[in-house]
Formats: sequence, C-alpha cells, structure tokens
Amino acid sequence: MTITQQLQTIVGARLFENELMSKHTNFRIGGPAKWFVEVRSVEELKKVLDVAHQNALATFVFGGGSNLLASDQGFDGIIIKIAMRTYDIQGTRVRADAGVLSSGLARATANAGLKGLTWAISLPGTVGGGVRGNAGCFGGEMKDYCTSVLVYRNGTVVEIGKDELKFGYRESAIKHSDDIILSATFDLEEGPARELKSELDDKLMKRKISQPLDAGSAGCMFKNYEIGTDEELQRLVEKLDLPSEMQSARRVSAGWLIDKLGLKGTKIGGAKVSDVHGNFVVNSGSATADEVVQLIALIKTRARNEFGIQLMEEVQYVGF
Ligand SMILES: Cc1cc2nc3c(=O)[nH]c(=O)nc-3n(C[C@H](O)[C@H](O)[C@H](O)COP(=O)(O)OP(=O)(O)OC[C@H]3O[C@@H](n4cnc5c(N)ncnc54)[C@H](O)[C@@H]3O)c2cc1C
Repeated sequence: MTITQQLQTIVGARLFENELMSKHTNFRIGGPAKWFVEVRSVEELKKVLDVAHQNALATFVFGGGSNLLASDQGFDGIIIKIAMRTYDIQGTRVRADAGVLSSGLARATANAGLKGLTWAISLPGTVGGGVRGNAGCFGGEMKDYCTSVLVYRNGTVVEIGKDELKFGYRESAIKHSDDIILSATFDLEEGPARELKSELDDKLMKRKISQPLDAGSAGCMFKNYEIGTDEELQRLVEKLDLPSEMQSARRVSAGWLIDKLGLKGTKIGGAKVSDVHGNFVVNSGSATADEVVQLIALIKTRARNEFGIQLMEEVQYVGF
C-alpha cells in the first residue's frame, strides 16, 4: 500500500493531499502539507504516527492553527490536526479533549456556574494548544486551574500532574518535549452563572476594541520581555521611560515597545504591523510567510539595536 492508501485506511475522507496550510492557520498563510490528516481518537493518532515512523516521515501536530506561521514551501510530511472534541463536567472538575475549542469550554463552564475559564472566551484555538503554551489573557492563564493532562508519549498514554507540567509565562514542559496532549483536566470553582455569563460578553467586547480581529494573524507575535536584573531594570527605566506598572511587573510589553519604536503600520509586502496593536503582525491580504519572517527580523533587530532588548516569538513555526 502507498502512504496515501495507508493513511486513508485510518482516517478515510479526513485525509487530504497537498493541503494548503493557509486554510488551517489563523494567519491564512502557508503552503501545501504533503499529507494532512484529522484524527478523532487516540487509536487514529497512534496508527498515523506508526505510518510516519515506518516511512521515516516528519510529523507536525496542531489544534486550531491560531498560533502558527506555516512556511510558503509547506510541509514535507504528515500534518496531524487533533480533532478529539468531547468534554465532561462532574461537579467542579472538567475534563476536555485537546481538540475542544478554548472559547467553547469557557462558555460551557460559565453556563454550568463554574469560575476559572471565562478569560478564555476570546482565546482562539484549542485546549491542547492553549495548555501547551500556557495561553492567557485578562489576568487568567491555563495554568491557574489545569491540574493534569493526558499525553501521548512513545506509544503510550501518560498522565502528567501540575508539578511536572512546569507552567510559566507562555511556557510548559510540554513545549520542550514530543508529548502530544490528548486531554486536560481543570479543577474549577463554583460561581454565579449569571455574573459569569455577563463576564463573557464583557471580555468579548474588550477584545473587539483592542485587537485587529478582522485580519489574519497569530495573535501576539512576541512574548513580553522579562527583565532579568536590577541593573537592567535601571537601564530600561532610564532609556525607555518605562511605565510604573511594567517596572513593578519587571516585564516590558512587546506591543508597547514596538509602538515606541514607531513601527506600527510598517509593511513588508502584505505583512503589516497592526495599527491597532503593536504586537500583532497581520496579513493585510496576500502576505507570504517569507514577508512575515522579514518583518519579524526587522522588529527584533530594531528592539535589540535601539533598546538592547531581545524579543522572542510567541508564534510557532512549521515547515521552516
Ligand atoms: C486573534 C488572536 C488572539 C490571540 N490572543 C491570545 C491571548 O490573548 N493569549 C494567548 O496566550 N494567546 C493568544 N493567541 C494565540 C493562540 O490563540 C493561543 O496560543 C492558542 O492557545 C493556541 O491554540 P491552537 O490550538 O490554535 O494552537 P496551534 O496554533 O494549533 O498550535 C500551537 C502550538 O501548539 C502545538 N500543539 C497544538 N495542539 C497540541 C496538542 N494537542 N499537543 C501538543 N502540542 C500541540 C502545535 O504543535 C504548535 O507548536 C491569539 C491568537 C489570535 C489569532
């Protein structure tokens, strides 16, 4: 059997050949994946990975595609979309498959009178992608209530507890492993459903005003910069006129910094620094991944040369 036939046997019509990644990324950018499969169970995932292993093919796992920059050349291997999408709520404990949308889980838990995930109502993407990167906004993060995850590791399913997950700012142990998240468990708190639901509306409204949601993007392009030492803090206070809240958080907002560099609105081809939010690089219509990479390089070079700040991407690269 050819590789295509083997994959078809596993996922049927959920196999696509030469599938454009631009159809699956929020950036609306990305060339063809040689094979693209959507898996709906652990068994399917295992079988697809076995095919990849037997044929020495590269694989890349993703969820919602909201934090990805896929190369114009595409991906010479198998792209695996995690599409297990069930969740269950028992008391204050919520278990969600990796493919459940974070925003959907935020709504479902608020409706059930559970507090802890309302911040995620405006978070694009899936629980798996969110937990891996410890996504967060409005003062909440995945790590706040996530108590364990089930991962697929070398052919077996392993449970990882909170301590082992080593969550940090946009960080987790999963990010530095080949583990594939299958599901996550959250231990939430009871709360008043009516208030929680109005919190959802409030947060959605705030997002509409502060982010360029009409254009393709991967959300914030860079992590906020963490200030290491007292000397560095002093240097940045003097050089940048750092606002007091950033001084006390010892963190420089990347969006604020990019604005300070006068880069809002800067374009390379179709890639543009948003006029609305300095940390958003948007696809103004026909951007290529190459143009986005050039714009990223320009921003990083300016931040380094002018302020001695090394910005790090939040976006994840695929096919580079
Ligand atoms: C408009 C917009 C606003 C955003 N706002 C925020 C925000 O406020 N806060 C924030 O933190 N982020 C934000 N993001 C970024 C993004 O939405 C989050 O990082 C999100 O949680 C990513 O989930 P995803 O399923 O789309 O991940 P994907 O983009 O599919 O994947 C991201 C990474 O996770 C890996 N991955 C995905 N699923 C799994 C899995 N099951 N197992 C192992 N690895 C996996 C992929 O390999 C990839 O490296 C925003 C993005 C956009 C476009």
